[in-house]
Amino acid sequence: MRSLARLWRRSIQARVVTSTIVLSTLVITLTGWALLRDVASGLADSRRSAAVSEARSGFDYAQSQLDAAVETDAATQSQALTQMVDSLTRSRGAKRTYELVLEGPLLTDDGQVPIRSSAAIEPGSLPDDLADTVRSSAGTYWRYSDLALLGAATSDPSVVVGSQVRAPGSGDTYALFYLFSLEDQQATLDLVRRALLLGGFAMVLMVGGVAWLVSRQVLDPVRLARRIAERYASGNLEQRMHVRGEDDIARLSTSFNQMAASLQSQIRRLENLSRLQQRFVSDVSHELRTPLTTVQMASEVLYASRERLDPQAARSAELLKVELDRFESLLSDLLDLSRFDAGAARLELDTIDLAQIARQAADDPLVARSGVTVRLVGADRPAIVEADIRRIDRIVRNLLANAVKYSGSDVIEIEVAQNTDSASFAVRDFGVGLSGDENLRVFDRFWRADPARAQGGTGLGLAISREDAALHGGTLQAWGRPGRGSEFILTIPKPEGSSKNPPLVSVFA
Ligand code: ADP
Repeated sequence: MRSLARLWRRSIQARVVTSTIVLSTLVITLTGWALLRDVASGLADSRRSAAVSEARSGFDYAQSQLDAAVETDAATQSQALTQMVDSLTRSRGAKRTYELVLEGPLLTDDGQVPIRSSAAIEPGSLPDDLADTVRSSAGTYWRYSDLALLGAATSDPSVVVGSQVRAPGSGDTYALFYLFSLEDQQATLDLVRRALLLGGFAMVLMVGGVAWLVSRQVLDPVRLARRIAERYASGNLEQRMHVRGEDDIARLSTSFNQMAASLQSQIRRLENLSRLQQRFVSDVSHELRTPLTTVQMASEVLYASRERLDPQAARSAELLKVELDRFESLLSDLLDLSRFDAGAARLELDTIDLAQIARQAADDPLVARSGVTVRLVGADRPAIVEADIRRIDRIVRNLLANAVKYSGSDVIEIEVAQNTDSASFAVRDFGVGLSGDENLRVFDRFWRADPARAQGGTGLGLAISREDAALHGGTLQAWGRPGRGSEFILTIPKPEGSSKNPPLVSVFA
């Protein structure tokens, strides 16, 4: 049932074919029903008019028989009537298609009306209202009814025609009824119904087949376009649709191919541009290295002899050194980033314990100098990962330095946690925090929340840290609330197979 619902949701072809079949069944059923009704009433009408005229001649014959009768003796009269019924039923062809009922004389002294009939007919076969009308008034009347013989299991539809006949000799009145069977008409109607049913069924099947074929013709190219678009989205930019003919589908394919070609050229152009930019940054950084080293050496000389310089020149020498140090760190950050961009950054993996790194970080002279208290959480159990110690150290120092420099918090919490798949190292402070927008932007290159308070930072530290984490297959995430501090969480996956040792601490589980 669920797979049917899924098919209905996902396949236009299934929907088109199903709705076509349902609608055509509806139309064919309605048309068939109207047709059958027309045929049935046509058959019944023609049979009825034939029956009425046949009955009329019978009534005339009966009347002429009664006109000729002069006997008044009841027994002889009764015999004559029976003979009349016999001759009326016998005189018409080999197979009789009707039965006769003769009631009368209608007014007898004892209230009993003698009834003669050509066969043992169920009393219900003669409609009461018709019988009453015929008994009470002159004229010919008819009704549709069901003709059932006593003892027979089934009944046939019939038309009953009745009229009064009068015996002038005795002055008695009789009611004579013809009950014509509509069995032949019913058989014809059954035949037509069967033919309509079979024809309708075949028609629905054919219409369903046609809908399937037509929808396939339209949908096949659409499905092809979808497959090609999927491959295109997964990076295979060479994919194109096959264009055949000049119809709408061919035009769609042409437009699709044009769009793909234009996207491909745009992507290539942007890729080239980005490669050029990366090359430019890398080249400029490299080119600046040599003159910077020379300038830095000269500045060292000036800085070393600053006591012999006049105060203004000494201050300039100090400023020069600070700015050159900053320049140097900016250059080395840029070179690092260009190595990441060029995919040239390599890992030198060692087995390291994040808990031990956390303990060392707590004793870092940087923290001691700043007078900030460090709280260690979860650092008493080993959290072993395979990582490049130089890069992990760089991330940890950057996070610590940021917490000390930017947060304004006097307590920092370093928390180590792990589960079976990964271990994490988090630095939490309780200072200025980060707003919702800043949570997302801290990792952008050159982004600083408040450049005026950036304290010499380049805005590249967290961008490099995130690249370092990604190089390990890990993540670096940040969250914070303004005025309530922030937390930076480094997560590194554990080496395969290490999960056999059950985790001691697990905040993720
Ligand atoms: P930088 O290399 O200049 O230190 P980062 O990329 O390390 O730059 O940090 C970018 C910016 O993120 C900082 O300028 C600072 O505004 C903000 N930031 C980083 N860490 C914190 C923190 N713990 N609390 C508040 N702001 C922070």
